Amino acid sequence: MEEMEVVLLTGLPIEERRDFILTKGKQKRQLKCDADSVAGSVSQRACVYCGARVVLNPVTDAVHLVHGPIGCASYTWDIRGSLSSGADLYRNSFSTDLKEHDIIFGGEKKLARAIDELVRKYRPKLVFVYSTCIVGVIGDDLEAVCKAASGKHGIEVIPVQSSGFIGNKSAGYRAACDALMRLIEPGEKKYVIKSKNINYLGDFNLAGEAWIIKRYLSRMGVDINVVFTGDSSYAALKKAAGASLNIIQCAGSMIYLASRMEENYGIPYMNVSFVGIEDTSNSLRNIAKAFNDPEMAYKAEQLIEHETALVKPAIQRYREKLEGKKAAVYVGGGFKAVSLIKQFKEIGIDVVMIGTQTGRPEDYRRIGDLVDDGTVILDDANPAELEKFMLEKGADLLVGGVKERPLAYKLGIAFIDHNHNRKHPLSGFIGAVNFAEEVYATVCSPVWNYI
Ligand code: SF4
Repeated sequence: MEEMEVVLLTGLPIEERRDFILTKGKQKRQLKCDADSVAGSVSQRACVYCGARVVLNPVTDAVHLVHGPIGCASYTWDIRGSLSSGADLYRNSFSTDLKEHDIIFGGEKKLARAIDELVRKYRPKLVFVYSTCIVGVIGDDLEAVCKAASGKHGIEVIPVQSSGFIGNKSAGYRAACDALMRLIEPGEKKYVIKSKNINYLGDFNLAGEAWIIKRYLSRMGVDINVVFTGDSSYAALKKAAGASLNIIQCAGSMIYLASRMEENYGIPYMNVSFVGIEDTSNSLRNIAKAFNDPEMAYKAEQLIEHETALVKPAIQRYREKLEGKKAAVYVGGGFKAVSLIKQFKEIGIDVVMIGTQTGRPEDYRRIGDLVDDGTVILDDANPAELEKFMLEKGADLLVGGVKERPLAYKLGIAFIDHNHNRKHPLSGFIGAVNFAEEVYATVCSPVWNYI
């Protein structure tokens, strides 16, 4: 096995990092993933609580109460672009604002008072109470406080066991899915193949993306029962067990929920991706295939043909400008990373560095199959590693989330937000054009000539 030619700037010895980074063509081993986040490390990966909040925050009519110091509550709707067609309670961020006194004597009473006040003021049907690092340390009994509040107010008050250091962001996804499972009422029937009613998991309706997919599916004769969790509500989530199929866009966050729903309610699931023309088309075809319905398959083909014809000329125009550029990718989940490699190919760009926060071994296998030799593949990276490999590989563009943006600009590299902070959709056919346009606007901006 060859040694990697890397000098890490984090102070961590290479032996501790070599399982997380490889260069395609040089090593024939699997990346180690899903390791716990190291407290105080400089990882780009979000914490457990943050993972739970990603999944649950788009539930529009819930109170989202963060039990912890005020800093944890800085994760608010303002920095996430999920849209609602109705309620907007989720745009508020509530915190118990734990202080020294609460840390020493416990914060349970303060939490109970906060729930009382919020219920009085907003009359919600559902309250999520998120645990944070410090709550894990002092051992407040969230379960007991939530149960008491639930009985007192006659509503659902659900604890989200997301203490920051109990694992990594994926543990937060699981904590959120556990909370969702407590909400879902069992359907009367098990899997009914004839029903065209499906749940759409792992779309947070950023810039209305779930609405785009809903329209596509409706043209194929498929209804969405509930989206987990973009533009969802208490009432919609309650009837999730009535669907005949679960499709999963963000597998990292939702595969656990899908498998629990299969186990408990007999609802089968399949992965989809609406990132890029190729994956969007294949996903629509696969949904029709899952229903074994020739008419639906025909409608899917018509839709794909029509939409592709609409967007192809624009994509071709951008491709001519972008051919030969190089991209670095650092995103949350592995499925999105895989789709992005294909989407960059559609616009003539090579991916030279790629990593994820919560990718699974099978995602990395797919990534390894798709990228060219020499591409750096990494899991749970830190800023120094991203910087080193982007410079080394001569990336013209970084795709990432809010934490990566300053890094790219500091290096004088173009940046695209493919996380939850954007205000324009990147899903479906229309999203493919938006993506190409954004890549062009940032990579070919004249501003880079002045840096
Ligand atoms: S839960 Fe812990 S790691 Fe996460 S934001 Fe709060 S203090 Fe930071």
